[in-house]
Amino acid sequence: MNIFLANPRGFCAGVKRAINIVTMALKIYGKPIYVNHEIVHNTYVIKHLESKGVIFNKNIDTIPKGAIFIFSAHGVSKHIEEKAKRRKLKIIDATCPLVKKVHREVSKASKLNFEAILIGTSKHPEINGTLGQYTNKNGNIYLIQSIEDISKLKIKNPNKIMLMTQTTLSYNKINPIIKKLYEKYPNIKKPKNSDICYATINRQKAVKNLLKLSDSIIIIGSKHSSNSNQLLRIAKETNKNSTLIDSHHEINTIYWINKVKSIGIAAGASTPNIIIQNVIKELRKTYKNNNIQEILGIQENIKFHIPKELNNKI
Ligand code: SF4
Repeated sequence: MNIFLANPRGFCAGVKRAINIVTMALKIYGKPIYVNHEIVHNTYVIKHLESKGVIFNKNIDTIPKGAIFIFSAHGVSKHIEEKAKRRKLKIIDATCPLVKKVHREVSKASKLNFEAILIGTSKHPEINGTLGQYTNKNGNIYLIQSIEDISKLKIKNPNKIMLMTQTTLSYNKINPIIKKLYEKYPNIKKPKNSDICYATINRQKAVKNLLKLSDSIIIIGSKHSSNSNQLLRIAKETNKNSTLIDSHHEINTIYWINKVKSIGIAAGASTPNIIIQNVIKELRKTYKNNNIQEILGIQENIKFHIPKELNNKI
């Protein structure tokens, strides 16, 4: 059995930063620490932090006044931010700086009296937060998920529209939508730099490289992780033997596992290294004569700063 490892795989800078923020907050302030949503979409990370005293997804109205309240890496709407302030919660912002970039674009559209079109997945927390940055009462922000949604848009002025996207989508998904949007609204303004983040782009490239070498692909990530699902989508477009698993416990549920000669392993941006290592260990145990090879990929050196209020206290 040949096993190929995608490169890069697992944690991105935004996820590392968010988890560090929660861990540092626990150290400085003690438990409980409240987080508006799962800090990142990974079951292992969430269970681990819950065991240390972190409470996720609690109704903000029931969080005790003065408690530590962390915004997850996905970001929050202005409404949640204001509500947290009104309740006098001590806010620590773990929103990924690359999600913040999209927030700033929406705020700008709102201030300049532009309407906004956001390509994303409905009900995803990042999308809820981004939609909630638009505050202009005379305009609108429209969420679209497919080409079909374009016909439902009720744009007021086709010369004053800005376009944004969720950070964890794939170009395969958004490019046909953007093409159709330009056909209908040729003057739509889009950001200079793509809203799809570097980590998403690099992991998607890594999966495409894996597809050239392996006759089957395992993506490691939680079922509700957007970027892991995009990796699965890309893998499945070329190779039907592609599966998303949350941990090594699911290996024995993969129907094709005993029929293939090579497996490519990739992991979403919220998947911890320990989970990846456990999957590799399990495959090693099952296939004794395996050959493990890390494929070449992009080196990631991006680091995001921890908020001063934490750094100064450690
Ligand atoms: Fe930030 Fe991208 Fe990582 Fe999301 S996947 S936390 S946007 S770097």
